[in-house]
Amino acid sequence: MRTIIFATGNENKLREIREIMADIPDLQIISMKEAGVHADIVEDGNTFEENARIKAETVSRITGTIVLADDSGLSIDYLNGEPGIYSSRYLGEDTSYHIKNGELIKRLEGVPDEKRTARFVCAVAAAVPGEETRVVRGVMEGQIGYEERGENGFGYDPIFFLPSYGKTSAEISPEEKNRISHRGKALRAVRKVMIEEGIL
Ligand code: IMP
Repeated sequence: MRTIIFATGNENKLREIREIMADIPDLQIISMKEAGVHADIVEDGNTFEENARIKAETVSRITGTIVLADDSGLSIDYLNGEPGIYSSRYLGEDTSYHIKNGELIKRLEGVPDEKRTARFVCAVAAAVPGEETRVVRGVMEGQIGYEERGENGFGYDPIFFLPSYGKTSAEISPEEKNRISHRGKALRAVRKVMIEEGIL
């Protein structure tokens, strides 16, 4: 059995990558915790890609195994890409998303639909011992809404409006979101690269 570590403490992300890799024989994906790694990684990169790479390479150096890591966030065009790589730290790590979402809506007050464009971005890095790290990106395009809507999802989902659905990403089902989300796309892309390059 081959083992890959996914450098996350988030059970939902772990479940999603396991589902996406489920048909690959003799492969198990474990969390950092399950691997016994308790590194406090400083994400000091300037891009999603750099932060994903830092996480994956740090854990790969410690364990000597193949490690996947992701970094994601919301990028709003009118705010020059904010909150971007600071999405979870925006207004403080412990501030509720109700407050963060309210503040973003306020900063876009009076801004017309066509200038409210935004995207969720997810970079996934695959660090392979002795090889160049592969990094891929997945994107989900949308617009910042005028109020919070929906109970599904998490974080900025209630204000992320998907024009083709007429709903926010907190109003579509989890299955539908995985199909179109930045993270789903990036995880499927890294799977494809790893298969094509003989890593899996
Ligand atoms: P991380 O990659 O787990 O550190 O996530 C960064 C932050 O980006 C999260 O804490 C959320 O604030 C935001 N974010 C990333 N993906 C999503 C999403 O699918 N929905 C809502 N917020 C998201």
